[in-house]
Amino acid sequence: MRCGVCADPHVQIVVEEDLDKGHTAKFISETMTVRGFPVSTDVILRHKTHRVKPLAPEGVKPTKRDIAILVQERAADKIEAMSADDLFDPANDNLLKHGLSAQKALDAREKQKGSAVSALLEFARLFGPRPVAALLEDGMTIDGEAVEVE
Ligand SMILES: [Zn+2]
Repeated sequence: MRCGVCADPHVQIVVEEDLDKGHTAKFISETMTVRGFPVSTDVILRHKTHRVKPLAPEGVKPTKRDIAILVQERAADKIEAMSADDLFDPANDNLLKHGLSAQKALDAREKQKGSAVSALLEFARLFGPRPVAALLEDGMTIDGEAVEVE
């Protein structure tokens, strides 16, 4: 038996992103149903307990340091503090260049994250709600009955 969220990589990505955004299991369940991929609140709650990437405790920033975020934040701090003259001073080109490329990397990442949701929505739009693997009473699915999307 498998968890109904783990059984479908697309559903898993979207559900985990919603969890990371701090949405409640009830909200996610309702949203997924609207999207054509019904997942019960219980299944989401259970998935939360065994998901590979644990949620960071509330109010605690992930400790894994991200260079793109560090560069972007520090460059933004410096640039914000600059006068217009300093901003366009060629001596500061490096700061701007690094700040912008970090910003670009972060934007690209955001866009990529959105694409998992878009792919799911596109699938639902084209084919309508997809046949759902037979759900057992406890919300689990039986291995092998999950429907492959691609
Ligand atoms: Zn799971």
